[in-house]
Amino acid sequence: MKEGVFWYGTMSSGKSLTLITKVYNFRKANKIVDVFTFSGDYRYGVGRITTRFGKQSIEAKTYDENFSFKEYVKDKKIDYLFIDEAQFLKTWQVMELFFIYSLGICNVYCFGLETDFKQDFFEGSSALIRYFTRKEELETICSRCGKKAKFNVRVDKERNIIFEGKQIEIGGDGAYEAICPECLARTLQKNIKS
Ligand SMILES: [Zn+2]
Repeated sequence: MKEGVFWYGTMSSGKSLTLITKVYNFRKANKIVDVFTFSGDYRYGVGRITTRFGKQSIEAKTYDENFSFKEYVKDKKIDYLFIDEAQFLKTWQVMELFFIYSLGICNVYCFGLETDFKQDFFEGSSALIRYFTRKEELETICSRCGKKAKFNVRVDKERNIIFEGKQIEIGGDGAYEAICPECLARTLQKNIKS
């Protein structure tokens, strides 16, 4: 039995570091590991996964919204398929990954954000939560008060939380923060009152 696991967390929750560490350990144990990241993620150049502080990085193949993982794994021997930025997967791609682990082709480990800065699900995350056997939260602390963070928010230069804009705006890392329910609720309440 293979497994499908979705590691999810806010910004700065160490997703890339966790992924890189797992890939390194599996390869050391002579497992065949393939690593993918979303092709639209140009933060550190195409085809690399890099930790926030740039200390560790790993080569990755890229996927876009037309990429078939089912075609890719056909006739290949793979033990573990790792996918970073998995929130950008389309539902049909998650279905392919569901078939891949459920029918015993290989293990599928996905890493990504659960929700966007408006607290709506990304398409990929919503499908992963429904079809994958294990969901593992990667925790980080609120950038405002130090409690456990739960939400990603987009902020302006003065660190005011903003609620407008497109869902996908890659590369604007400095413009996002992870915050706790209390800090989000206080801001939302203030916005509703005024
Ligand atoms: Zn807080």
